[in-house]
Amino acid sequence: MDLQPYIPGLSPAEPRPLSRFIPPLEEGVISSWLPLHIPAGSWLLDPFGFSPQLVLEAARAGYRVLVTVNNPITRFLLEMAANPLPESDFKAALADLSVAKKGEERLATHLQSLYLTNCEKCGQEIQAESFLWRKGEDAPYARIYTCPHCDDSGEHVVAKEDINRAKRIASTDNLHRSRAFERVVQLEDEDRVYAEEAIEYYLPRPLYLLTTIINRLDSLNLTPERRRALNALILVACDAGNTLWDHPSERPRPKQLNVPGQFRERNLWIQLEHGLNLWTGTASNVVCEAWPQKIPESGGICIYEGRLKDLAHEAKKEIPIAAVIGSLPRPNQAFWTLSALWAGWLWGREAVEPYKPALRRRRYDWAWNATALNAAFTHLFELLPLGTRFFGLLSEPEPSFLTSALTASSAAGFDLQSLALRTEHDPIQLSWTRGEHLKREAKEASIDDVRESIHSHLVERGEPASYLHVHAAGLITLTESHALKQKDQEFDEALRSTQSLIQSALAGDARFVHYSTGESVDTGLWGLTTHPERLSATRFDGTSQPSAQGEVYDSLSDRVEVAVVTFLQNNPNSIYLEIEHDLYPRFPGLLTPSKAMIYSVLLSYAEKDGAAWKLRAEDVASARRNELNTITAMLEAIGTRLNYSTRRQDKNFLWEQNNAVDYAFYILASALVGRAIAETPYLPEQTIIVVPGGRAGLAAYKAQRDPALAERLKNYQLVKYRLLRTLVEVPVLTRETFEEQIASDPLEKSKSQMMMF
Ligand SMILES: [Zn+2]
Repeated sequence: MDLQPYIPGLSPAEPRPLSRFIPPLEEGVISSWLPLHIPAGSWLLDPFGFSPQLVLEAARAGYRVLVTVNNPITRFLLEMAANPLPESDFKAALADLSVAKKGEERLATHLQSLYLTNCEKCGQEIQAESFLWRKGEDAPYARIYTCPHCDDSGEHVVAKEDINRAKRIASTDNLHRSRAFERVVQLEDEDRVYAEEAIEYYLPRPLYLLTTIINRLDSLNLTPERRRALNALILVACDAGNTLWDHPSERPRPKQLNVPGQFRERNLWIQLEHGLNLWTGTASNVVCEAWPQKIPESGGICIYEGRLKDLAHEAKKEIPIAAVIGSLPRPNQAFWTLSALWAGWLWGREAVEPYKPALRRRRYDWAWNATALNAAFTHLFELLPLGTRFFGLLSEPEPSFLTSALTASSAAGFDLQSLALRTEHDPIQLSWTRGEHLKREAKEASIDDVRESIHSHLVERGEPASYLHVHAAGLITLTESHALKQKDQEFDEALRSTQSLIQSALAGDARFVHYSTGESVDTGLWGLTTHPERLSATRFDGTSQPSAQGEVYDSLSDRVEVAVVTFLQNNPNSIYLEIEHDLYPRFPGLLTPSKAMIYSVLLSYAEKDGAAWKLRAEDVASARRNELNTITAMLEAIGTRLNYSTRRQDKNFLWEQNNAVDYAFYILASALVGRAIAETPYLPEQTIIVVPGGRAGLAAYKAQRDPALAERLKNYQLVKYRLLRTLVEVPVLTRETFEEQIASDPLEKSKSQMMMF
């Protein structure tokens, strides 16, 4: 398999509506991939319609994107993204809603009054921003506000009136609850119970606010644009109004309908106003039509509202699909169930009807996921000509999700061409081609093949890897030999046996070592028990040459360090994205360096001027060479003062007495401490590794992410240049004080504790 480089993108700058349920993809990835493989103006197919932004970006890049969407909420997000409304429509819609009457009151006043609370400091009646609840209780325990009168703010225990207000609203709850489900399903519908269960994820107050507004929608007489704007704002409130907001927030991206132990009830009127900022964008419109309307060759979106299976029949004759793109769907019971609910609230029962099974289905496991994906891939196989490319993004990757996707695609006849993996926090980039029609032999899965592929990945990496990485290495081998699923196997059985095969391959091989605090195989890091004895020379361009003894490599982080510095040496004032663009092709597939790794190198060597990075003056190669000479001279001077005879021996500088080596100094300008340890022929207790102060943080970062390196490094003394500069100035220096001084110069704690990956 030809491992392609990871395509870097830009993280979306601002949160989008419902973004906690939408795949977190970087912008700029699909628009970089497409022109490399597919002529502009071609037809693309997104069979999943899971990410509105992906479709939009492909259309903007000049492609015609046919997308199947069966979730009415995702469809609405896509249409809103393609044809954003001006801010004025949102403001006008909200104003129209505000001035509607509820009895004698304005609706806005009435709904805001649901959230009144008294400021603990000044006693004024103000709006709470949120109330905090414990699961199962009938009143909140705390409130969060910012008082506009006295600036008191933060979390406060509730007052009696807050409890009474919550209970007062709850006393009429039954009525609003039945209104809420009647908009979703009919009273006699057998799915009624599922709708009722879904509505349980709304407290009485948000449910009262939402149903009050929704019941007003038709009598407001809004223009179609304002109605669309108001729907968009209500949708934000629908999401903000459920009980899936844990407090403090530890699960920001819920997948299951579970009420957290403590959760936040937001002020939904504030959320409606806040929605305005989420929806208003400046992006230009993209043509967006419903199938089978035509879209221009210059690009656009054609939405097929229905199932891929039906489209496959219709589209095969009419549309030449040049490639498939898509964010692979992962099970999200919470979003799918709530989508059915929201569709009913916003557009009524007819809108829910085709999507109603989402209410019903309760358990989405990986076998379900693989079966559904396999059905999609099978329809695609029928629809597409031989060799058609499929570029897929697998966001929030985890081992089971990747196993599911690769098993489903392989079983449907797609050949994996490439898999690029950065970290478990980034989407995996996959590419397939539609394979031959011939029924291929499913081979017996071989544990030895899996072991060898994991072993060679770890050797090539030169440092431990996450379980996801070694799992992916195993999967790639199994995919290549068509061994992910046997013919007579169901998907649940196939997934289980793949998982246990990979895990036994790791557990039953003495060459592998597990660095983890837990028992579970899929936590922590996996590395090799024996560290390679000899290291290859990392060439100046950052690639590694296998040494004469075989495939032994510098660690990935060392190679990345050399590559980044070399690039900046040759291309000063580069922006971060240019650095990634240069770097990723050198480290393709599973070797893709993380952003944290790249930033650690940059922070050690470079400085930023605006968006541009350049090497610090002292880290330009010529300056470093001069400094190496200075440091050598200092070692010579100090050694002589301490009555040692001194000499250079290869890369070491030696202090000797009676022809025996007392100290061997290994002077580095870089943070390639792993290589220094491997190269020095002297014992750890004789060896002192001398590094520039600016490199200490980078060395600490490497040790932090590589337990094997940390273990080896423990036996060595590291000393910074600046200590030698100080010592050379000390008027009275003895061997004892020298010893004390170097022992008190610890490798500093990494400044970037957050950058663990
Ligand atoms: Zn106050």
